[in-house]
Amino acid sequence: MRIFTPTLLAAMLLLNSCAYRNKEADLVVRNARIVSMDEAGTTHTAMAIKDGRILELGAEYQILNRYRAKEVFDAGTRFIYPGFIDGHCHFLGHGLNKQKVNLSGAKSWSEVLSRIEAYAKAHPGTGWMIGRGWDQNLWPDKANPTNDSLNILFPDRPVLLQRVDGHAAVVNQKALDSAGLTTESAIAGGLLEKKDGKLTGLLLDNAVSVFQQIFEDVDEPTKRQALLDAQQDCLAAGLTMVCDAGLDAGTIDLIKRMQEEGALKIRVYAMLADDSTNFERYADGPLISDRLIVRAVKCYADGALGSRGALLLKPYSDDPAAGHGLQLSTREHFVKVAQWCKDNGFQMATHCIGDSANRLLLGVYGEVLQGTNDLRWRIEHAQCMDPADFDLFGKYNIIPSVQPTHATSDMLWAVDRLGPERLANAYAWERLMQQNGMLALGTDFPVEGIDPLKTFYAAVIRKNDAGVPPKGFQMKDALGREDALRGMTIWNAMATFTEQDLGSLESGKFADFIVVDRDLLQVGGDQLKKARVAATFLNGEAVSTGR
Ligand SMILES: [Zn+2]
Repeated sequence: MRIFTPTLLAAMLLLNSCAYRNKEADLVVRNARIVSMDEAGTTHTAMAIKDGRILELGAEYQILNRYRAKEVFDAGTRFIYPGFIDGHCHFLGHGLNKQKVNLSGAKSWSEVLSRIEAYAKAHPGTGWMIGRGWDQNLWPDKANPTNDSLNILFPDRPVLLQRVDGHAAVVNQKALDSAGLTTESAIAGGLLEKKDGKLTGLLLDNAVSVFQQIFEDVDEPTKRQALLDAQQDCLAAGLTMVCDAGLDAGTIDLIKRMQEEGALKIRVYAMLADDSTNFERYADGPLISDRLIVRAVKCYADGALGSRGALLLKPYSDDPAAGHGLQLSTREHFVKVAQWCKDNGFQMATHCIGDSANRLLLGVYGEVLQGTNDLRWRIEHAQCMDPADFDLFGKYNIIPSVQPTHATSDMLWAVDRLGPERLANAYAWERLMQQNGMLALGTDFPVEGIDPLKTFYAAVIRKNDAGVPPKGFQMKDALGREDALRGMTIWNAMATFTEQDLGSLESGKFADFIVVDRDLLQVGGDQLKKARVAATFLNGEAVSTGR
């Protein structure tokens, strides 16, 4: 037996102390259950962070013994995941919406009207009144609104009320007049509804875009406030990066300035809106920095299912007179943009809801990409697929970018629009994921709520907040829990070319992580529904203490 004499013990301690806490860190996280989302699925109990990046992950004693930290965060045995990335949302739009009349959740058209009247009373004047968020599927008669009552209530003040998906709007006569729209007007890729030879004020897709200018004509202070408001909500929800699906170059400049000022911390993957002035601004190629990346172009192939603007191969089941929906640009246009993207090092991302829109764009992509590649082009939504077309995602390495909460929001009425046969191949997340072994997940907020935990719940449990349907909606296309979490982290990093820096907690990567109060991979469905983000760290900095 070996006996340690006091002097030997002292010498050993001294030796040890040479290595003891000899490394500097800005932050040490301890007492945590860190789900790294690395390839091996490693978990750790502590990590050290310096200059915004992870130095080392490991067992608590190992990290605490090695690092001298300016700050220590005790996670209280809670779970730590990589910061969530929203693969498809409208970051600026969410912020601007906060300045519009909120119509979401209105249970009838008359409730919409009373919210507008209340707003008009509080904000007198003759300026535009813009509302957003109505959804006729929540109303007793499920009928689209017309502008009769708006014309009586507001004969002299222009009003525009966007549907929840932004693809439809109802405007009053004053607004129609201001845009010079009459029964004679024809707009490609858009629709002005007529009844008895008169415009009803209901507009679809490109007819809504006629009013785009009033959305864009917001001054810089308004836009700044909107971006800050959106950031606050995102960080509280555990989002450390957002992919904004369509911004103009001017807004991107503002985001860049606000990031340089330190006001905007969230990472932004900004997709350029399909507009020649944006392309001219980025003719020299993508912009890639730690917090802002501009290397994608967002196009629209069709409209939305709820407003019957989605482009379908066969007519709408519940309204054959509505025809096949709307194609928002010509095939030649999509080929031209695709070629520009390929030539200039940009990723193309196209909104495709209907089976016909998906087929059209998968065909265009295939023609330009010509086989396997690592250009990571994306189809946004990929919502309603013809079964013959799934394989094209694999064939051309196209990433499906889908929004699980669309499935649980739409499921109650989507069967009316599509009929049971087509519905069986809609919201097919698992089959889409299998094409390339990955997919990107997002919310499309403000079309849906901002909360990524709802994305996770909808992806794996496929029920709405009311627990409907009891067994889940088309469960054969539910994602497994690990895959859903990958879709919100590492796969979204891949979909934005940032997997070297983001999407998992590994040494060398940015320290973007969140603290969650329960085990997302294990707890039962009811527990999962109650999961909350307790804190968000971005670049090693605590940016939100959550809710
Ligand atoms: Zn969108």
